[in-house]
Amino acid sequence: PVDSLWSLLAASAARWPDKPALVFYDAPLRYAALVREAEALAGWLQQDAGVQRGDRVLLLSQNCPQLVVANYAVFRADAVVVPVNAMWTAAEVADVVADSGAAVAVVAQELLPVLRPLLDAGTLRHAVVICYADALTAQTPLAIPPFVAAPRAPLDHPALVAWPAVQAAARRPAPHRATAGDLCVLPYTSGTTGRPKGCRHTHGTVQSANVAAVAWRGLRDSEVFLGLAPIFHMLGMQNGMHLPLMIGATVVMLPRWDRDAALDLIERYGVSCWAAPPAMLLDFFSNPAVAGRRLASLHLVHGGSAPMPDALAQRMKDGWGLDYNEGYGMTETASFLHGNPRHRAKRGTLGLPGPGVRSRLIDPASGADVPPGEVGEIVTRGPQVMLGYWRRPDADRESFVERDGHRWLRTGDLAVVDADGYYVMRDRLKRMITVSGYKVWPAEVENLLYGHPAVHEACVVGVGDERSGEAVRALVVCKPGAAPAEADFLAWCRAHMAVYKAPRSVRFVDALPKSNTGKILWRELQERENRGQP
Ligand code: ATP
Ligand code: MG
Repeated sequence: PVDSLWSLLAASAARWPDKPALVFYDAPLRYAALVREAEALAGWLQQDAGVQRGDRVLLLSQNCPQLVVANYAVFRADAVVVPVNAMWTAAEVADVVADSGAAVAVVAQELLPVLRPLLDAGTLRHAVVICYADALTAQTPLAIPPFVAAPRAPLDHPALVAWPAVQAAARRPAPHRATAGDLCVLPYTSGTTGRPKGCRHTHGTVQSANVAAVAWRGLRDSEVFLGLAPIFHMLGMQNGMHLPLMIGATVVMLPRWDRDAALDLIERYGVSCWAAPPAMLLDFFSNPAVAGRRLASLHLVHGGSAPMPDALAQRMKDGWGLDYNEGYGMTETASFLHGNPRHRAKRGTLGLPGPGVRSRLIDPASGADVPPGEVGEIVTRGPQVMLGYWRRPDADRESFVERDGHRWLRTGDLAVVDADGYYVMRDRLKRMITVSGYKVWPAEVENLLYGHPAVHEACVVGVGDERSGEAVRALVVCKPGAAPAEADFLAWCRAHMAVYKAPRSVRFVDALPKSNTGKILWRELQERENRGQP
């Protein structure tokens, strides 16, 4: 039986009141204190900001304990979290505020300028300001827990109230009423293929993904998690917050990605479990400081969100004995959908549909099931699938199909199923490149490019071509000191893959643009390359 996420946290706190739920710059936040802080904020949201059951509350911050408290305070108040990406501009945030109808926010002091126009216009009526002390700039561990910090500058808008003032007021919220079927979070998709869409998730859908993930990964309350992926995105929200708190574990958190700090925290706190997108792992394991370190406490490194280069998985195995445990999911499925069960994992696959999940492959054009062994679009149903998009009937119509009396979600992802039932991802439907009528999957070409000794990071895009319709172009970041000649590189490509897949041109670049959720922004690159701009 599922319950609200708040009642799960309360259960963990009843059992482990003095255990650190979170550790931030060496300051622990214990389960009992987390609940107490969330109660106080929930009371304030209800009594001072007029938040009612089902209302949306905007949360805008990098990872910090207060952001976790705020998530649970919103649940405690029977309301709905609208998490926003801390990298978004004022205009992007304004779109989400308008779309979601949020009138109340919790915001980090450093991000206040992003909300300023909405506060001035009265669109946002109240905002609680998270004060970090100087955690974000501190070089050394904090002496004072960030919880007692006062604002760094006076709050100069009548709609603003400082976090410590809210805590000091210690309001008591009304009895908790939300149950499994209530909406609890409205996360927006990453916007990789188009405008971000809000996904309607309930306490039940969010929790179902975690119950399945805990079972497949064999996780226990003794686990120490590394909470580095942003919790405003599904991967981090689940694996760096809801899942660990549900099982009574501890999360070591940092506001933003820092590979040296990550290494330090893993060793100092004996981190056992780390969820990271491949881009983070690539950066981490390329750090010369990591070579020669044992990372002995880490027993599970898992991830998803983007394709994992096989060369990196091999490096993790050879260097540190780590098996990258790949999973597959999307914002629409509250993260975990398919995954590799710990003791029968298959590298290079998305694993099997998780417990309670049914998936099948269909021909995206006709909707018919594809014959065994052939590529098709993954369509799926299961307890973690969202109710639907938020105010996007057009997207709902495109994304759900009826079959056998059930509603299946179209993922837009193409895969094949191997003889053991494991799913192997080809690529996104929208990323396919057609070269003289042949289909090319950028993810496959990238994976091959990572096998080149000079390649640190690669992205493959399609560029318009008079003769072949589209041509493959590689954008490559080389390893330090490596500088292959263009002609040699292209010749290597032709020798290592079918001729129509081999990049016809390559551009060596200093860096690839990435979202802070660890995705290479291929659509942006593709558009840029087709405009012919550097
Ligand atoms: P938008 O839907 O707005 O275009 P998005 O699909 O990138 O953005 P997310 O929900 O964050 O937003 O990402 C889900 C997608 O991530 C999946 O549909 C899939 O394409 C990709 N993905 C997830 N796991 C993996 C994986 N293990 N390997 C490759 N790609 C993955
Ligand atoms: Mg998507």
